[in-house]
Amino acid sequence: MDKTAERAAALSDNPGAGPVPFIDLAAQRRRLGSRIEAAMNRVLEHGQFIMGPEIKAFETQLAAFCGAKHAISCSSGTDSLQMVLMAWGVGRGDAVFVPTFTFASTAEVVAILGATPVFCDVLPDTFNMDPASLEAAIGAARAAGLTPRAVIPVDLFGQPADYRRIEPVARAHGLKLLADAAQSFGAELDGRKVGTIGDAASTSFFPAKPLGCYGDGGAILTDDDELAEALRSIRVHGKGSHKYDNARVGMNGRLDTLQAAVLIEKLSIFADEVAARQRIGRRYNERLEGIVAVPALLDGATSVWAQYTVKAEDAARRDALGAALKAAGIPTAVYYPLPLHRQTAYRGFPAAPGGLPVSDALADQVISLPMHPYLDEAVQDRIVAAVAAARKAA
Ligand SMILES: *Cc1c(COP(=O)(O)O)cnc(C)c1O
Repeated sequence: MDKTAERAAALSDNPGAGPVPFIDLAAQRRRLGSRIEAAMNRVLEHGQFIMGPEIKAFETQLAAFCGAKHAISCSSGTDSLQMVLMAWGVGRGDAVFVPTFTFASTAEVVAILGATPVFCDVLPDTFNMDPASLEAAIGAARAAGLTPRAVIPVDLFGQPADYRRIEPVARAHGLKLLADAAQSFGAELDGRKVGTIGDAASTSFFPAKPLGCYGDGGAILTDDDELAEALRSIRVHGKGSHKYDNARVGMNGRLDTLQAAVLIEKLSIFADEVAARQRIGRRYNERLEGIVAVPALLDGATSVWAQYTVKAEDAARRDALGAALKAAGIPTAVYYPLPLHRQTAYRGFPAAPGGLPVSDALADQVISLPMHPYLDEAVQDRIVAAVAAARKAA
């Protein structure tokens, strides 16, 4: 998330008049009133800053929200991905399949463990992993002498990936399925809530995510008892039954009690915020259709619209749209200007045969508009009008 936009969002008091915030965290804070301060004060009073009672309470509520058996809170979305791969024993010689059109964490955690991220392409309308590209990448990885171990589909911009088609591929090849739900907690596919899809789902509470805290945080959701137990050990240095006899190599991966206290308050209004996000996303789609390429939802899918991302024809027209909106006081962002396989740290890793042409094209075309549950209709109309004017002028 653009730090300047976030700061502007945090400071903005009256989004109707002046500059439009990209994400309006201040509006949410006003709605919650003194509840967050009161919750944080309770932690200051009891003083259990590490693994205090709010941790368990939050985990129970988070699991109940999506219907998962276990929720294991942790230090960040990135760590939540890494901890699952550690629990599965992923390491050197293993291939883990990830989309190239995502945030760095998805591939970073694979490389950190000495395993090989193998990049797959995405679909042009949903921005999510292309199951055909996954299938091709598995064959190529095997031919290169790697052991296919896991796939991490990303629910980009808030919509679940096409698990209907990805799950059978994963099953046929004996791959573990880890959903990177950092952007999609609160969404559904075929009536299944994110958090119950895949062997495990990991999510992030980075402040700008749909369910964010006031710092770093994350969680893993799973129905697998054995995995849950391993994760609870890994997040505390691999603890065994005795505190100073560690059973495995783990990490310091705990969520702060203060963040759990914040999250309990935010989760209490989250269902309502998700409904608002869906209403606003639908309204954007209706009004922008025919003006720019609007994002597509799979049949049976909902999105929590972590980002509302449209497409222009090419980089020149995308950048012109961004400049015109900026001049109209409307912030935009590009997620992601460089797919992972073009980034310096990740250039050397293998990719699906045939290359990653859709991701390469999307990097030039995408642009995200202001999106948050407190975006009112007047401001949204102003954004839509500015997009229409910019497109007409181009
Ligand atoms: C934000 C994000 C992450 C990482 O979450 P952090 O809490 O910032 O570590 C991982 N994957 C995706 C797709 C994300 O958007």
